[in-house]
Amino acid sequence: MEPTLPVVRALAIAGDRVAGGVGTHETALASPDRVDLGGRCVLPGFNDSHVHFPTWALAQRQVRLEGAASLDEALQRIAAATSEVQPGGWLRGMGWRSGDWSPPTEPTKEALDLVTGDTPTALMARDYHSLWLNSAALARANGDLEVAGGVVVRDERGEPTGVLREECAWHFRDTHVRPTEDEMVDASREGVRIAIARGVTAVHDKDGWLGALGVWQRLREEGHLSLRVWQSIPAEQVDELADLRIRSGFGDDLVRIGYLKTFMDGTLGSQTARMLDGTGVEITSRDQLAQIIRRGAHAGLPVAVHAIGDLANREALDAFEETRDDWAGLRPRIEHAQLLAPEDVKRFAQLGVAASVQFSHATSDRDLADRFWGELESEPYAFRSLLDSGAGVANGSDAPIEELDPLAGICAGVLRTIDERPAWRPEQAMTAEQALVATCRTPAWLSGDEHRRGKLLPGFYADLVVLDRDPLACEPEELTRIEVIATMLRGTWIHNPPPW
Ligand SMILES: [Zn+2]
Repeated sequence: MEPTLPVVRALAIAGDRVAGGVGTHETALASPDRVDLGGRCVLPGFNDSHVHFPTWALAQRQVRLEGAASLDEALQRIAAATSEVQPGGWLRGMGWRSGDWSPPTEPTKEALDLVTGDTPTALMARDYHSLWLNSAALARANGDLEVAGGVVVRDERGEPTGVLREECAWHFRDTHVRPTEDEMVDASREGVRIAIARGVTAVHDKDGWLGALGVWQRLREEGHLSLRVWQSIPAEQVDELADLRIRSGFGDDLVRIGYLKTFMDGTLGSQTARMLDGTGVEITSRDQLAQIIRRGAHAGLPVAVHAIGDLANREALDAFEETRDDWAGLRPRIEHAQLLAPEDVKRFAQLGVAASVQFSHATSDRDLADRFWGELESEPYAFRSLLDSGAGVANGSDAPIEELDPLAGICAGVLRTIDERPAWRPEQAMTAEQALVATCRTPAWLSGDEHRRGKLLPGFYADLVVLDRDPLACEPEELTRIEVIATMLRGTWIHNPPPW
């Protein structure tokens, strides 16, 4: 992944670093092991730049409503899951998207009550910006549902229908449905095994608000943390970090506090993305974001801000522009950058704000994007335009919204289709090399690791993945068949050690 150096036929590893080459400073003796790769390909380990790791790990065990073609099909899956709920426990689920249902209809508590009875039930929408509750769940809140920046969907009589959006959804979840740390640790232990089997050696986690830092520390103490973590912390906690003098990069080789996370707007699926046409939900205003960026910069913490709609992205860019002198030297980012007015695309590169995007969202959202955004002048999922303008583009899965699977993301970025249909907006497709840079190198730069990770150069960490074939040498159609053979972190095999 270093353009100025040729691909090599062999790689030497000493201790936790890549060695090889005359005059490199080896920190340990080379191990005597030799591995014949049998013609396979080695790349730097994959870095998922946007993952809600404990939430994704927990979601592996919940009712999944992705792909349900109708309300009835969703209800059948929910009914089948009720028998597995512990007495007194919650039925948790995720993945519904009423925009996909035919006949078109909106979810209600009444529909849910029929299949769940008295079991309190909370079902997150696929985009995590709406929550569908039954009556037993709503009763827990005692009517206390309203929160600024959120929506309580109500019927003609003013009664909650059972659907909460944005801040209302998150407030309810955080107050009443929050998983315990033990549940998160249990699920994440298994989640780490799944992730490393998919070639992941580093993540930028977004579950700081949920206490992910505590989960990682427990996993490390147990010896089950075989990933590097760049952790987000909610922007509201900036003063606490500042008081403790905790700056970006605090931590060790494996777990570091990285950046502040905040939200400008909602999403495409919930139609709460903040748009230049005046629709959508404002979670953070331009001035508030500028404040957050300044306070973060003062404390030594860059900001990652979620922005989906074209107005949300413009205002986020405005706020970064206005505060440019404050955050110089930090590496801020806009998460998703999903819909951009043409004149805003180049501003990412001009300002030095990275676009932390999800290649898989383009292929999953294409129908919704065509329906809601198809007529707009603003460009949806304009990954190639961003890259061509010189912006840093990092790829992530946004798991559990998409599966945590970097190879699937790379395929989506290059092919721009995941089914039989031709590529969607093919002019925005990445080359395989660009997709790999966005999955290995740019995420490492975002966490200040450009001299340690993301390439296989002498002195860099020996974090690597073995693939069954070379993505840069195979036909695009072959990309979907590439398999991860093994994964190494700091010179140690953590998934499927040889011989193979
Ligand atoms: Zn996310």
